[in-house]
Amino acid sequence: MKKIAFFDTKPYDKESFERQNNGRYDIRYFETRLKAAALPLADGCDAACAFVNAEIDRAVVEGLVKRGIKVLAMRCAGYNNVDFKAAYEAGLTVVRVPAYSPYAVAEHAAALLMTLTRHIHRAAVRTRDFNFSLVGLTGFDLHGKTAGVIGTGKIGRIFADICKGFGMKVLAYDAFPNPATGLEYVMLNRLLAESDIVSLHCPLLPDTKHLINADTLAKAKRGFTLINTSRGGLVDSEALLSALRDGTVGAAGLDVYEEESEWFYEDRSDVTRQNKTLSLLVSLPNVIVTSHQAFLTHEALANIATTTLKNLDDYFVGAPLENEICYRCLGSGGANKSDCPHRANGRCHSVT
Ligand code: NAD
Repeated sequence: MKKIAFFDTKPYDKESFERQNNGRYDIRYFETRLKAAALPLADGCDAACAFVNAEIDRAVVEGLVKRGIKVLAMRCAGYNNVDFKAAYEAGLTVVRVPAYSPYAVAEHAAALLMTLTRHIHRAAVRTRDFNFSLVGLTGFDLHGKTAGVIGTGKIGRIFADICKGFGMKVLAYDAFPNPATGLEYVMLNRLLAESDIVSLHCPLLPDTKHLINADTLAKAKRGFTLINTSRGGLVDSEALLSALRDGTVGAAGLDVYEEESEWFYEDRSDVTRQNKTLSLLVSLPNVIVTSHQAFLTHEALANIATTTLKNLDDYFVGAPLENEICYRCLGSGGANKSDCPHRANGRCHSVT
């Protein structure tokens, strides 16, 4: 039976994978994230399975291959934490779950937006304390406002539909505009200047790192609401903090944070606060931070388990790998397999 080293295990991961594994694989669940220091746990395994905050740099890639592991199953859509060039060179096949529930993420973005615009988080705290005052809780209608959607892939398009459902005007920006979406694509500067809310749905790539920075914030509509459910590195957190303080940004809903790997997913309430920017952000009444939980629905967890196990099945039987990505087929806008010159028999690596 093939052995899978399963990293960054939470109780809900184990539950959803065990429900579908049916004894197919010997899954060894480890709480630690996949990083260099955790490599010995993968000894004797045939595959590794990791999640968004793993640190899969060249040393980890080579460490896995040295242990005889030739396949890494990412149980997430994003892949900015994988050194794909190293993986390609070392002969490590990387598969992922490109879509498990774009609805889960788009709906979480909408939940952050609604909570902020109507101050639900503050109201809930007040009423628990039997404080029924409404002072300071005046919100604004979303109807008639403009939503700027950056990245119009699976999640961004659903979020745009939700905004249209509220009666909002939607402006879109994408490095690869898709006319089939029927969205109104504009240049980034116009989107920022005209949008009352801006929601990020593009991947974290070298050219999108700190897409929201002091310069772009200066071009944005004063007092706009920023929603980020994509990747923390898209936003320069220091610049966001100053913009929240001077009113450039009216509110921010953040499911991701650029240094989240040290903080998110665990109870850190006993840790003396060390990350000044994150501490200041969470303390602002017009900021909501959630712990990279946009994906966390029963439907998404079931889909993650189904697709990850199918990716591994396909790998081990030598079938085409629909969800493989390599640094050649990543291109600049995401995994476009037609750009991969080495793809043959449905795989980017001919070696199995
Ligand atoms: P997708 O690949 O379907 O869409 C991404 C879109 O971004 C594409 O349309 C692409 O053309 C566009 N894009 C690429 N480069 C761009 C650039 N430089 N500027 C603007 N747009 C650009 O991806 P998706 O499934 O919609 O996911 C979007 C992001 O959501 C992922 O990259 C991932 O980081 C994030 N995500 C977060 C969670 C969570 O739990 N918070 C869960 C899943 C995905």
